[in-house]
Amino acid sequence: MASTQPDRDDPQGLTSTLDALTWHQPLARYGQTYGRETAPTPLGSPTLEVFNSTLAADLGIDPAAESRTDTAEILAGGRVPEGATPFAQLYAGHQFGVWVPQLGDGRAISLGQIRDRSGRFRDIQLKGAGLTPYSRTADGRAVLRSTIREYLASEALHALGIPTTRALSLCASPDPVYRETVETAAVLARVAPSHIRFGSFEVLFYRKQFADLKPLADRLIEDHFPAAASVSDPQDRYAAWVGEVIERTADLIARWQAVGFCHGVMNTDNMSALGLTIDYGPYGFMDAYEPGWICNHTDHIGRYAYDQQPDVGLWNLSRFVQAILPLLADEPDPAVEIGQSLLEAYRPRFVTAYMTQFRAKLGLSSRQEQDGELLDDLLALMARDKADFTRSFRSLSDTPGQADHGNAPFHDEFSDREAAARWLARWRARLEQDGLSEQERQGRMRAANPRYVLRNYLAQQAIEAAQAGDFSVMQRLGRVLERPFDEQPEHAELARLPPDWARHISVSCSS
Ligand code: AMP
Ligand code: MG
Repeated sequence: MASTQPDRDDPQGLTSTLDALTWHQPLARYGQTYGRETAPTPLGSPTLEVFNSTLAADLGIDPAAESRTDTAEILAGGRVPEGATPFAQLYAGHQFGVWVPQLGDGRAISLGQIRDRSGRFRDIQLKGAGLTPYSRTADGRAVLRSTIREYLASEALHALGIPTTRALSLCASPDPVYRETVETAAVLARVAPSHIRFGSFEVLFYRKQFADLKPLADRLIEDHFPAAASVSDPQDRYAAWVGEVIERTADLIARWQAVGFCHGVMNTDNMSALGLTIDYGPYGFMDAYEPGWICNHTDHIGRYAYDQQPDVGLWNLSRFVQAILPLLADEPDPAVEIGQSLLEAYRPRFVTAYMTQFRAKLGLSSRQEQDGELLDDLLALMARDKADFTRSFRSLSDTPGQADHGNAPFHDEFSDREAAARWLARWRARLEQDGLSEQERQGRMRAANPRYVLRNYLAQQAIEAAQAGDFSVMQRLGRVLERPFDEQPEHAELARLPPDWARHISVSCSS
């Protein structure tokens, strides 16, 4: 391991050029066990269109680097930064329940890991950077449309407090990319402490490369799981690590549910071993509340519908635990027993996290037995009325806690106002038990119920403008979504119900 101190070319700890960063690529040291060294393929006439200067500063990169030509060149995959070893990771996965023995980074190439300003490793990966040994029959590219969707969604989830990969930059190019129609190419620079997936372990297990599980797990634990890293007995350490992966995944999915987020393709290769939201494809934020909502038009059976996500999380974790069983015990039977007992923690953890999220959304500060029923009845009412998920909760935040001050704006979200009023009466009775001041309750609820989410139609508007060369719509939307809980009255139209044309937007795996 190289020095633990970040190398920077100025005393503020900021570097003006990506060449001055110290790039690490620890998995490249194991030959081709975990992936392959692969250089990006340059795009034609790339332009740096969007640069996340806040994230750049966190990474130790001077925001002024945005205007340097070498920054654009590197972030578009036109040149490898000095001292970096670009690398494509190997993984496999269960896609829609079916085992696919080899996937891997088919179009994402890691430039390497740098230490951010707080000393933590962050992997900078270029998605859409060209062919890799894992591209199979595909082209290694990403279209502008999907790159904008990933950029906006990852930053929106981050602002909502949901663990996710981040977006550092978007470079566009006029190079054609062939999907259902001819589109143009783009490269997203995405950033995460690690992009290792459940499928990174599964591929080793199914190939019976049991000895290779350990270095990968050790790397992850050492860098990203400090509590597990402090456990001295190796098998206990792995159990502590797996336990934390299970907890983080349960917490993550509870947070998705609480903002009406549907991932769309929860294959095990799209599940982060750090419990981050990763691989934004046909995701969606729900407009009208519908428990069985399917955001991905290619998911005909609704395997990854909104209300399936919690169970899919457990199914995916089971595949992950199976893959790392050799680390938990020397013999299969005790390993399976340990694995199963670890997985049993998932459901209670999820329920607790889910209720914590939704109690906050309802403005409840204590826990009462009947809170689940109060929530379920609200959700049933929303489902029956096709009420908008985001607006229902936000309007509840703004509705007076006392009956004599009226039922607006909450009841405006419902066609059955009487049912809405009956539910409000029960909610108010429940609020009384907590005794929070009105101001305190509203403040808490507004911090738990976003006013702005990345509705599909908003992303679509940003995409269409960008495809015509205007990135200002995306930039504005991105800025509003950085403060999703703030009222921002000057942007109120971005909190409106989707227009009629939005019903016809179809989102599929094509990206
Ligand atoms: P996804 O459905 O985007 O999570 O991708 C599933 C697998 O297909 C991953 O191994 C990707 O790297 C790979 N893949 C997706 N799109 C492309 C592409 N355009 N070129 C090469 N590989 C791709
Ligand atoms: Mg993927």
